[in-house]
Amino acid sequence: MPAPFFKRFTAAGWLVKGADQAGSRSEILLFLPFAKGGPRGIRFWSHPKLRRIKASAARAGKLRASLTQESLMRAVLLSLSCAAVLAAGCSQESAPAPEAPAAKPAPAAVKTERSHDESSYAEPTKVVIKDLALDLAVDFDHKQLAGTASYTLEWKDKAAKQLVLDTRDLGIEKVEGQDAAGAWAPLQFNLAQADKIFGSKLTIETPAQNAHVRITYKTSPQASGLQWLEPSMTEGKQLPFMFSQSQAIHARSWVPLQDTPSVRFTYSAHVTSRPDVMVLMSADNDPAAPRDGDYSFKMPQPIPSYLLAIAAGDLAFKPISNRSGVWAEPSMVEKATKEFEDTEKMIGVAESLYGPYRWERYDMLVLPPSFPFGGMENPRLTFATPTVIVGDKSLVSLIAHELAHSWSGNLVTNASWKDIWLNEGFTTYVQDRITEALYGKELAEMERQIDQTELLGEVKNMSPADQALALPPLTDRDPDDSLSQVAYVKGAWFLKFLEERFGRATFDPFLRSWFDDHAFQSATTDQFVDYLKKNLLPKNPNAVTEAELNAWLNEPGIPKFAAKAQSRGFSSTDTARIAWLGSGQLPSPQVTSGWVTQQWVNFINGMGEKLTLEQLAQLDQAYHFTGTQNGEIAMRWYPLTVRSGYLDARPELGKFIERVGRRKLIMPIYEELVKTPDGLAFAEESFGRAKPGYHPITTASVEALLAKAKAGESK
Ligand SMILES: [Zn+2]
Repeated sequence: MPAPFFKRFTAAGWLVKGADQAGSRSEILLFLPFAKGGPRGIRFWSHPKLRRIKASAARAGKLRASLTQESLMRAVLLSLSCAAVLAAGCSQESAPAPEAPAAKPAPAAVKTERSHDESSYAEPTKVVIKDLALDLAVDFDHKQLAGTASYTLEWKDKAAKQLVLDTRDLGIEKVEGQDAAGAWAPLQFNLAQADKIFGSKLTIETPAQNAHVRITYKTSPQASGLQWLEPSMTEGKQLPFMFSQSQAIHARSWVPLQDTPSVRFTYSAHVTSRPDVMVLMSADNDPAAPRDGDYSFKMPQPIPSYLLAIAAGDLAFKPISNRSGVWAEPSMVEKATKEFEDTEKMIGVAESLYGPYRWERYDMLVLPPSFPFGGMENPRLTFATPTVIVGDKSLVSLIAHELAHSWSGNLVTNASWKDIWLNEGFTTYVQDRITEALYGKELAEMERQIDQTELLGEVKNMSPADQALALPPLTDRDPDDSLSQVAYVKGAWFLKFLEERFGRATFDPFLRSWFDDHAFQSATTDQFVDYLKKNLLPKNPNAVTEAELNAWLNEPGIPKFAAKAQSRGFSSTDTARIAWLGSGQLPSPQVTSGWVTQQWVNFINGMGEKLTLEQLAQLDQAYHFTGTQNGEIAMRWYPLTVRSGYLDARPELGKFIERVGRRKLIMPIYEELVKTPDGLAFAEESFGRAKPGYHPITTASVEALLAKAKAGESK
């Protein structure tokens, strides 16, 4: 037997290649998947001298005749690549990766003024909003918010004569300014033609630099930041529902604002609605407030505009602790409270690492399944998808993520969207620390491995500039489209790298001081780098080089020197899958009973392109994947059934994409369906039924996919 010249440790086992006797032809000699008690299981020998062993193994029933070298290697490679993977809970699940422009070189690193926000018309160097007072009526019949927004302004430039605000699709009725004596008088204003990305610039003439300005306005039924749901689209089917999603630049579609994260303001609101509906905001919601159609809110901590939030519907409250609880439709509230019962412990972990929680209450609002994202970190009231309520808490890292934003993002905020890694990378890192403290290193490691594998796949299709943490200016670009897993996963990976180089004893206090020293402020990448150089690097001058920092922040891809997560938790799922593919023998229930969602995902992910109908039926009989309530499993299982032509899954698949509107979970299923004429027809029918319940963001994604598929079909 020739000496192996290639031996590689993989997530699933040892891959050993060798040369033949002449030393010229390389061959796969064997693959040793991991199993308890050392390497055993399927051994695949391809060297001519060893074929006899393979044949005798097959005769002994250890290997099925159908198991070819190709199929085995495909299974192995697929299990390693983990093509489709779980994304961490993310406030804004990123849009498909921005496509790489053809042969365009990475721009040279230019020192830009990173505090400037290209996504807003506002001029915060001249004047800033210090406080906002809303008086709004919620009109479900006309899908409209109408009323007034009053601003307290701080003028910074003595020569300034205008207040410039961001708006989108708003009807502006009048603008008034208050004089020194307290009297209101009309102000002249101009609403510019709408830009398709940034909306309409509202310019108000304020020659007297009024301290208070008031706008009377109403929203459009198509407001990009609001979703209006008919009663039939809710769990309870009795009352309508409405909720906002302001990040990144949708707040301007329901309030005229300086819609930039570089400006913070306090706010209060008086909101009226039909009396049978409860209204909540990202403010001081009172768990005991009577449901009477007349509500008042105060947010005493200054927030950026994208954290302004409102929701209205048939909402009940259940406490978790004296400062935390769950708002949800009555039929959901019990289940959600059970799933999120560790929230108080999560707050405790985060406080022990990064200092006191500064927002008083931390409540969660469970939205209808049409919410297009996983969660949104609205202060004091996280908005969350019901799809993470799976009964075993395996997806509650989403709550850890949104809670972590109470420090990274909400407390210390990116000054513009090109530095969003300061929000999402830090948050993903903090989320990981909370998960590790509460659920153990293994779960945290599994989630990191899934995230990192996904990111490495995603960056292949991205322009070099978009792969840097510090993004180039987002001129003429929707910040929603430039957001990718780079901000989340590469950002967190960079912080993990710093943690490993300096050790937690040094790194944890450093991160805490970053939050303390910049609390209720906005920050840029340049500010973070300066802070790092002043407060962390001197603690161990040899730990990190300038070139390494630059590789993380300004260069494309993941630095070669980055250590990858390696979870031991996936070895049992890899072994079980490979054994089943070879022998038809499923693992014993004792093995699978302890598997969490991430392991089931890994088990399915490695199945390859297609399975036979018998194999799919066997899996369904054992594990009931078809009809699963777990969206993370559904988003991997259904595409596999579509590719394999397993029509038995169709009815439940249809129900899933009609019920759920979370983009991350349903887009992979639509993408698989549209590849055949029959699947495309089914996708169109299902979408037709689902569309009234989808959020405008989800509708746009599905429509674009269907249009592209149909264009391809008619060619
Ligand atoms: Zn987030």
